[in-house]
Amino acid sequence: MKQFKKILVANRGEIALRVMRSAKEMGIKTVAIYSEADRQALHVRYADEAVCVGPAPSNQSYLRADVILEVCKNLGVDAVHPGYGFLSENATFAKQVEEAGITFIGPSPEAIELMGSKLAAKAAVANYNIPMVPGTEYAITDVEEAKKLATSIGFPILIKASAGGGGKGMRVVDQVSEFEEQMQVAVSEATSAFGDGSVFIEKYIGSPRHIEIQVLGDTHGNIVHLFERECSIQRRHQKVIEEAPSAVLTPELRAEMGLCAVNVAKACNYIGAGTVEFLLDENKNFYFLEMNTRLQVEHPVTEQITGLDLVKEQIKVAQGEPLSFSQEDLTITGHAMELRVYAEDPTNNFLPDIGTLTTYKRPQGLGVRVDDGFEEGMEIPIYYDPMIAKLVTYGKDRAEAIDKMIRAIDEYQITGIETTLPFGKFVMQHEAFRSGDFDTKFIERYFKDPTVLKGAPNKDEEELAAVLAAVFAGKKKTTAPAAATSVAATSGMSDWRKNRLK
Ligand code: ADP
Repeated sequence: MKQFKKILVANRGEIALRVMRSAKEMGIKTVAIYSEADRQALHVRYADEAVCVGPAPSNQSYLRADVILEVCKNLGVDAVHPGYGFLSENATFAKQVEEAGITFIGPSPEAIELMGSKLAAKAAVANYNIPMVPGTEYAITDVEEAKKLATSIGFPILIKASAGGGGKGMRVVDQVSEFEEQMQVAVSEATSAFGDGSVFIEKYIGSPRHIEIQVLGDTHGNIVHLFERECSIQRRHQKVIEEAPSAVLTPELRAEMGLCAVNVAKACNYIGAGTVEFLLDENKNFYFLEMNTRLQVEHPVTEQITGLDLVKEQIKVAQGEPLSFSQEDLTITGHAMELRVYAEDPTNNFLPDIGTLTTYKRPQGLGVRVDDGFEEGMEIPIYYDPMIAKLVTYGKDRAEAIDKMIRAIDEYQITGIETTLPFGKFVMQHEAFRSGDFDTKFIERYFKDPTVLKGAPNKDEEELAAVLAAVFAGKKKTTAPAAATSVAATSGMSDWRKNRLK
């Protein structure tokens, strides 16, 4: 069995910090890499050693496998943790790391490659009785043939990039007349984003919920699942709010989907932490979407409900240790919510709104976890993903996790940029979300008018109005100004419009 002494984290921001924290607890030294835009970044200061790997653009720094390998060799690194994004699903990089005699903390290059292609993944699991969305099993090239297939599947259909990720390269086609144009767009989007223009067709499931299962495998042939995460609140097919467990899975369905996920993992001899994504339709039929062969952004909600540290588990597995628990040992305790706090303007189509964090004060208290990589006064670089933080709350049940999330959002003070915080509060207060009756169409259905974020009086204003009404009604003659002042003062943290002052 190996015993790592030094790990290089080939990533930046919150995930680099998150990985380093676990390494530190395990007595493992850490090496950070950074671009010229990240000289002052927290992950750089946190690491035992840090090396600049190039200019700001990712392809000149965080994606420079050759430079990163060089750093590994020079600093005597035992293992590389890739985080998510960047090189985390790059099979060639994983292979190069292993060839250099260094451990890649993740699955084998073969598993990464197989699951990196949605089509290859579907083919790989074909013998495991995994339900799939009806569609083509191969890349389509002939438009006329594709049109016929789409018609036989039935519109609406979805054209998807086989190499796709992050919601890119996906086009919904409502009718045959739009097919050709949408296919051209999908192919060109896929080619420019992923260097692979292969696209295929899937039936477009009307109102699905996105349910994914966390799996964990060791090098001794053990694979377990760590239950589900629901990630149905999405914009542009990308997740914004996640939770565990899902409000709608029965223990039977959970066990069934869990078994399927374990089988998907078995199909590619999976090692380490991975995620098997499914869509769940209105009739609770589920369909395999894809497998992500890395740590997922939303992994903290699973950590909260299982009590496991997924990064430590990844490291232990990479050292060759067998899992210290079996499926029967795992249970769900409580409920966790995660809001991705993006530097985006929810009132302007969730477009990035980068700038300087003029004010940045994190929420605190029981059941609140903030995974971030920024401090007050720092700038959000334009070069990378605009996620500022992951705000995670944990309660004894779903209602408590939601209430804590609202409280934490109210406490979170960010000025200088727009964020998804007010949107998060909108969702948490929405009846459809609170009742659990929602799906991936939530934004389309309930957030048609984003100005509700600006127009809706928040609770504190309602209180203030009530106080003032009482004053005018003559009920609170003398205390009125003081009461009004104190309400205004305490509302400082929750009024996001104040937070917007730049
Ligand atoms: P990516 O790899 O780009 O994230 P996924 O296949 O994981 O793409 O899908 C992302 C999201 O797109 C899903 O969570 C879901 O909201 C939507 N989606 C994907 N496939 C379908 C489908 N066949 N029908 C309806 N929605 C879909």
